[in-house]
Amino acid sequence: MNCPNCGAEFPAGAASCPACGAPRSEIDRLLRATEKAVDRAVETGAAALNRAAKELEPVVDKAVKTVRPAVQDVARALKPIADATVQATKDVAKAVRPAAETTVRVAKEAADKTIATVKPAVEKAAEKTGEAAQKVKGKVWKR
Ligand SMILES: [Zn+2]
Repeated sequence: MNCPNCGAEFPAGAASCPACGAPRSEIDRLLRATEKAVDRAVETGAAALNRAAKELEPVVDKAVKTVRPAVQDVARALKPIADATVQATKDVAKAVRPAAETTVRVAKEAADKTIATVKPAVEKAAEKTGEAAQKVKGKVWKR
């Protein structure tokens, strides 16, 4: 341990401090006094903290009560923006849907037109193939 009087190393079992000459009994008394002073300081500090907490409580309550309406105002102010964003998204979906439907309809029309154009040619080709087959069949039968 160190001498509480001068801070020098105090050898265990020494009768007095080798640096300042303070006797061990004086050292013990100083140590006890220091301990008491520390205890008192801790108690005083704790009491001061408790008092500060008690004094601050209404201030904090008041601050919360003051801030809360402001926060609610901000939330209230933001709600139409959030609603507008949702509405805008719905509007975009609504605006895009006819375009998508038109694309599907145009594609279907193009397919129908292609089928309408190709169908007679295919039917004619099938007819001619059938006629040719009949002719071949007829030639075979004649033999
Ligand atoms: Zn000393």
